[in-house]
Amino acid sequence: MYYNDCVQVRLGNGLSAPLWFTKGVKQGCVLSPLLFALYLSGLGRVLHSMKEGVNFSGVVVSALLFADDLVLISRTRIRGMNKLLRTVHRFCTNMRMKLAVEKTVILSSGPTGGRWVVSGDEPSLEASLIAKYLGVDLSIKGRNLVKAREARMISTARAYAHTIMGCTRTGLDRSATAQRLWECCAIPAILYAVEAMVVSKATVAELEKIQSFVARFVLQVPRSSSKAIGYTDAGMMPIEHRIVARSLGYLQALTNRKKDPILKGVVAVVLEDMSDPWTAQAQAWTRMVGFATLAGVTKAQVSTKVELWSISQIQSLVKEQRSLVALSEPDRWFSLQPHVNDSPNSRTLNRFRAADVGLGNRRPNFLGGAYKECPLCLMGGTVSRLDEIHVVLECPAVGFTRRAKGIEAYLVGQLGNRNPIELIMRGYLGGDGADPKTMMARAGALQCVLNDWFRQVSLA
Ligand SMILES: [Zn+2]
Repeated sequence: MYYNDCVQVRLGNGLSAPLWFTKGVKQGCVLSPLLFALYLSGLGRVLHSMKEGVNFSGVVVSALLFADDLVLISRTRIRGMNKLLRTVHRFCTNMRMKLAVEKTVILSSGPTGGRWVVSGDEPSLEASLIAKYLGVDLSIKGRNLVKAREARMISTARAYAHTIMGCTRTGLDRSATAQRLWECCAIPAILYAVEAMVVSKATVAELEKIQSFVARFVLQVPRSSSKAIGYTDAGMMPIEHRIVARSLGYLQALTNRKKDPILKGVVAVVLEDMSDPWTAQAQAWTRMVGFATLAGVTKAQVSTKVELWSISQIQSLVKEQRSLVALSEPDRWFSLQPHVNDSPNSRTLNRFRAADVGLGNRRPNFLGGAYKECPLCLMGGTVSRLDEIHVVLECPAVGFTRRAKGIEAYLVGQLGNRNPIELIMRGYLGGDGADPKTMMARAGALQCVLNDWFRQVSLA
């Protein structure tokens, strides 16, 4: 397949003159990595035998090879690195290849200055502060090695969030579309390589803010709504929990590696070094989700434990927030809840679940009124705290609509079980496991009660 192969471009009805391939492997072909590795395997062996790199209890790593990306590692700043560079140059010349000097950068700690030379005919290499390795910006200066990468994570997240909100305003169910785009396109790009980094708390908090922004857009709830509803109803796992899941999955793979003695040796040394921030963090997270060690643990066991831990964290967050007492807990978390779609009914339901329908108790309502107590009850001489539960299940002013829409019947049935009012509300909002069709009917009933309450407030 590599013999006498060529390519022609079709333009209209005509074909261009053929172009013959004389070098390189085919982009996207499954054989390409293997062919490339065979071609380059000699170089790896030579560099490894030079032992110029860092020592991991007997294993000296002088080079990292990944596809066409080559990293040389030297203990000595100038001498060892120049030796490695000369070896690479000699190998390339023998194999009739050329090192792309303009794409080569040196990351050096310690004193500035120095000259690194690939060959006599090429300009010498300059020391750089930031280099991209496998798509990740690494910086040699300052305490934070991945500062540039963190800034990029945030800008990527913002760009995705704006694109998603822009491109899903028209067309199909925008809730489902936005949620899928976030989970399948944005999250993999934002969290790329996060398992091998220590991400600062500030970055996590910023990403979390952007994710809740998308979650509220998916659910069509106001910006003031709790971020907890983004986890439970939009099915978006908190950013911090995603990072824990990825890091522990990576640690599990490293710990339980059977083949590759070199990698095994390196991993053993890194995982014993508790002064390494990544190791310290990974060990702390291992214990946090309930493992003593990940040795002998399967990938599935890790993800199950992380998910259980994440759910329990969110459950306590929901319990802490008084306004979310009515938020029902879905059967399966971290998936878009079935009652969420682009309809006005699902919007109503989401707003009731978030306890944020705009009554005027959190901020002035659309009539401009702000109240802590129900204004309709006050007129009748009783003081009642104003919230969604009061309007839906208690307020006598909307009793007629409540009876007409079947909410009263539900309430009476549930009161027979001696359930507190919060639990009844939670059941009505889906906690009783009602199917999506029933939930849509209930959303319609909720909207009627709400409209009736607002109509009377506007007349009062
Ligand atoms: Zn009332």
